[in-house]
Amino acid sequence: MDWYRKLHWQTLAAMVAGALTGLLIGESAANAVGWIGDLFMKLLRMIIVPLVLTSIISGVASVGGGKALGRLFSKTIGYYVLSSLLAVVIGLLMVNLIQPGVGANMTAAVPGELPELDTATSPVQLLLDIVPANVVQAAASADMLALIFFCIVFGAAVTTLPDRTRDIVTNLFDALFSAMMRLTSGIIKFLPIGVYALITKMVATTGFEAFKALGLYAITIGSGLTLHLLVVLPILLLVLGRIAPRIHFANMREPLLIAFSTSSSGATLPVTLATVEKKVGVSNKVASFVLPMGATVNMDGTAIFECVGALFIAQVLGFELTLLQQGVVVVTALLASIGAAAVPSAGLVVIFIVLEAIGLRGPQVNLIVGSMLAIDRPLDMYRTVVNVYSDSCGAAIIARSEGEKDVDTVIR
Ligand code: ASP
Repeated sequence: MDWYRKLHWQTLAAMVAGALTGLLIGESAANAVGWIGDLFMKLLRMIIVPLVLTSIISGVASVGGGKALGRLFSKTIGYYVLSSLLAVVIGLLMVNLIQPGVGANMTAAVPGELPELDTATSPVQLLLDIVPANVVQAAASADMLALIFFCIVFGAAVTTLPDRTRDIVTNLFDALFSAMMRLTSGIIKFLPIGVYALITKMVATTGFEAFKALGLYAITIGSGLTLHLLVVLPILLLVLGRIAPRIHFANMREPLLIAFSTSSSGATLPVTLATVEKKVGVSNKVASFVLPMGATVNMDGTAIFECVGALFIAQVLGFELTLLQQGVVVVTALLASIGAAAVPSAGLVVIFIVLEAIGLRGPQVNLIVGSMLAIDRPLDMYRTVVNVYSDSCGAAIIARSEGEKDVDTVIR
């Protein structure tokens, strides 16, 4: 196939065209095409709940419950914790090395309004939130963690049914899942158009002047994310999965472009699932278990951001953090990244969990967080890429450890 017919090249071209339109025409272009971006986001969001539901239930039912399910669960959680912890440590290193907050002039930055997000504020609340009081309500409000919990226990219950009934339920969910994947493939065809509109709007509406005051902060986060994306995760792929990072990265181009354009791991999830199964070559059993949960709780990019952001604020305010306090930042940054919803700007909202833990509060802190919001969108786009990539690396590594041979053998 000619290179220009390939979807990822078309999408990249759309991205460049969108950036140029946003830069040259500005606000009026954003108004003209903004609705197309919104429509594309809605199409992606439309399929999340039914896709997660059918994929997890059919996946768990095929794992077979009991010991096998427990093993997959432990591997998945083990990978999430390992990769997110490494991410926080990268953030800690970068922020101590570059020290972006020391001497930063925050008066030049214009603070914005933080969006209201319903986020758990304590670890116990996070745990309680996992169990839905009402499954329909959890689905209706796209409360992913609660929905995933229900699907896993439902899938496990299905495995204990007598053969005949079990086959009926499993076949039904398998078929529904295939239908959802078809739908996803259909929506992906509109990727270049959706991306063009999203990028036009982002470029036209982001106030890039704030970058002057917060430039070093943005560089610290950017270099932390790059280090994690191009060094740490490839090492994990090589060491834990014996997978060539180049092949995996090439196979994941489309979801990464969508993550970048939408700033939402949740909206990207349908495409991540489709790609990890069709291109990376991971079984539905593993992909449907690792990816929906990963999109919700495994956010390496966000973990880097929480750590750098909180320590940046401490530096601006002239606080010297003790080793113990830095330890508290590491643990709470990890928790905040787990608690952050898979939607745009969620990472910035949950930074208060970290700040609260080290006693940073008050109007000055709010002002700095507000200023960080002014340039958050591009940083959010990049950290969402890292969030999604870590999930797909996890799926590939776990699939390999389960004896799957076809994972990332060729670039598809
Ligand atoms: N936007 C990110 C995501 O959906 C979360 C964040 O704001 O860090 O993955």
